[in-house]
Amino acid sequence: MTKFTAYAALQAKEKLQLWEYEPAPLKDSEIEIRVTHNGLCHTDIHMRDNDWGVSQFPLVAGHEVVGVVTEVGEAVTTLQKGDSVGLGWIRDSCRSCYHCLQGEENICKKGYTGLIVGNHGGFADRVRSSADFAYKIPDALDSASAAPLLCAGITVYTPLRTYIKYPAMKVGIVGIGGLGHLAIKFARAMGAEVTAFSSSTNKQAEAKDFGAHHFYKWGTAEEMKDLTGSLDLLLSTSSAELDWDLAFSLLGNNGVLCFLGIPVSSINVPLIPLIFGQKSVVGSVVGGRRFMQEMLDFAAINQIKPMIETMPLSQVNEAMDKVLAGKARYRIVLVSEET
Ligand SMILES: [Zn+2]
Ligand SMILES: [Zn+2]
Repeated sequence: MTKFTAYAALQAKEKLQLWEYEPAPLKDSEIEIRVTHNGLCHTDIHMRDNDWGVSQFPLVAGHEVVGVVTEVGEAVTTLQKGDSVGLGWIRDSCRSCYHCLQGEENICKKGYTGLIVGNHGGFADRVRSSADFAYKIPDALDSASAAPLLCAGITVYTPLRTYIKYPAMKVGIVGIGGLGHLAIKFARAMGAEVTAFSSSTNKQAEAKDFGAHHFYKWGTAEEMKDLTGSLDLLLSTSSAELDWDLAFSLLGNNGVLCFLGIPVSSINVPLIPLIFGQKSVVGSVVGGRRFMQEMLDFAAINQIKPMIETMPLSQVNEAMDKVLAGKARYRIVLVSEET
């Protein structure tokens, strides 16, 4: 009998503790992975606390998973034992709707299945998952750096890849955190002129190090009036409430305001500048298979790596506390002990 050893929340809002489970038999289409690294995403904490009402307990979180393939199902042709692979937030989708056929499983008409929704994730010694939603980690990316790319990375890569239309496009990034610092790096590598916005001035030097050409402390309309109409894309990675009228006013014609976080449940959009400036307000959620492997390859070739701090997986509870305290700089990667 096979048993996997995991860190699980046995009930909502409880600390994670060691827990063993017997996995379902390996399907022909699945692989088994010996987990070496997990990026810690805020969503893992939302799932632990059942903030969205979809968590099932015992819950094994972890959806920025990197490891080595140890078993392959009989029908798997794309991966073999020993491959370094990653799993992200999406573990399956209908695979047949219009969006899935475009590689946009993140907006599958029937809804995708989350890796840790009704299933055990990466905070474990091993995990089993569909080979079709596992991604080869390029040799030029170390496993610890690759892990946060699988959720945070794809979340920022997808809208940048979609809305950056030409080199030197003017791109603003609001919020310099787990998502924002990667967005600055990707946007810079895509050739954009990057402006970083933060609520505090003490991130200016880091923003420049990440590749931002310009840095502004997010201020009042009066303080930011020189920027009115200056941006082609403004990507909000912030979960803090801001003056969204002001954010919208920074867009030039054809400009796009894109939300990744949910700082408020709704915003007012002024229709006259929207129409006469052909502006857009859009949202974006993780990303599908079309961009996932491309994002990893792009990160490898451009050496785009998240700024991480590593902690042993056994300290997952302390790591979660650190994320909740806003003290992670900028992504914690949990390292499995035996690696
Ligand atoms: Zn995530
Ligand atoms: Zn679909």
